Amino acid sequence: MKEKLSQRTTRKRTSTSLFVWVWGAFTLVCFLLLLLFSVSQRVLMQRTMTHQAVQDLTVRGQTIQERLTEGTPSEFEGESEYAQHLSATYGVSVYILDGEGTVQNESATSVDFSKKIAQIKRNLSDRESTVYQDGREYVYACELTEDDGGRYLYVAKDMAFLGEWLKAMEGRTLLTALFIFVLSFAVSAAVSGLFTKPIGEMTGKAKQLAKGDFSVDFHGDDYGREMGELADSLNFARDELAKTDLMQKELIANVSHDFKTPLTMIKAYASMIIEISGEDKQKREKHAKVIVDEADRLASLVGDLLDLSKLQSGITALQKEQFDLSAYARQTVEQLEYLQAKGYAFTVEIEEGIFIEADKGKIGQVLHNLIGNAVNYTGEDRLVYVGLHRQGDVGRFYVRDTGEGIPAAELKDIWDRYYRSSSAHKRPVQGTGLGLSIVRKVLEMHGFAYGVESEEGKGSVFYFEFPLRGGEEL
Ligand code: ADP
Repeated sequence: MKEKLSQRTTRKRTSTSLFVWVWGAFTLVCFLLLLLFSVSQRVLMQRTMTHQAVQDLTVRGQTIQERLTEGTPSEFEGESEYAQHLSATYGVSVYILDGEGTVQNESATSVDFSKKIAQIKRNLSDRESTVYQDGREYVYACELTEDDGGRYLYVAKDMAFLGEWLKAMEGRTLLTALFIFVLSFAVSAAVSGLFTKPIGEMTGKAKQLAKGDFSVDFHGDDYGREMGELADSLNFARDELAKTDLMQKELIANVSHDFKTPLTMIKAYASMIIEISGEDKQKREKHAKVIVDEADRLASLVGDLLDLSKLQSGITALQKEQFDLSAYARQTVEQLEYLQAKGYAFTVEIEEGIFIEADKGKIGQVLHNLIGNAVNYTGEDRLVYVGLHRQGDVGRFYVRDTGEGIPAAELKDIWDRYYRSSSAHKRPVQGTGLGLSIVRKVLEMHGFAYGVESEEGKGSVFYFEFPLRGGEEL
């Protein structure tokens, strides 16, 4: 027990509160989602914009190509002027190059096309037109005519605006992300507070409960089903603790009363022997017998308490053996035959030769407690029935009485430690309120089914069932 306790207290516990965990996790998820969103948006936008720009340039390039191929309209002085016009109309730079890369139209520039022409020729080796990126510009190029080493159209559009636009978009996205992040930070704080608030409340109440305050009430319904269930479980634990606490107090009252009565008797009769009956052998023996009987009562009370605490703490292990329960049950009834003098009659309905594999001493306690209870609680006719028979592949032992029975509401409680019916009862067989809890514990340790059937006003049947063992006593 000590070891268990120390294990419990030394178990490692994280010092971070659940609030921080939930908050952190939530914020991290938000952050990652935003990051994913921003990155994907950037990539997607860049792609779409580039694609659109390329398409746009292709359309403009093709139109310019067609118009140049159709020839220069008469209102223009020459191809150069026409190219200039087209350049202004379509918002692009238009160059007509020869096979060497020399600019043919007037809008000559400082750009060295002699290097660019090689790439254009390369690109056009297997297609009619080409679109590619060249630094800040996107270029549409094609061959206009094949004569004299070829004439080439070079249409360029400056795409620097695209980068600027993307940058501006990025800035805006970043701002939005920052805003969402701050918002999620606040929302996650509120959400994690919502999670941890009921837990904090329940922890406080559980501490109160641990200190013995059974008036605490756990609430969790407002915080979702799981919290509601947790609150219900804690309320159930509280009720059970309160019940045990009450029973324990009652036990102390009962036990001290039960201890006090024989002790008073022992003291009184011992004084009587000293003062009155010392010389009178007959009286002395009578008084001494009372002392012995009362001492026996005390001993059985202490024995019961010890047995139960040993069973419950798990100290006692079962010492199983195979034995003839029929003979053993008969023997137990015979031990109580002295009660016949008080008008009790036992009807024994025991089938012969039923073997059981169990701890003989403990099963003896079970039989004794069940039969003892039947004697204590049977009706005016003072009849007690003890039976043992085979039922399929199990053996069934039962004890029946003709007493008042047990109210249905109490049936569950009678197996509890310390439970004792409230009605004062004359008990020919000593009882401590622990008898049935010993019975329950022993039968549970063996894995035997047990129970009680009771009808108010008619009596009760207590029974247990066990696997049959067809063998000889070992
Ligand atoms: P005790 O008999 O010493 O009070 P037990 O643990 O043996 O303690 O029984 C617990 C309670 O169960 C009893 O106080 C009584 O109320 C009820 N009980 C047990 N056996 C019977 C029975 N045969 N008939 C009616 N009530 C019973």
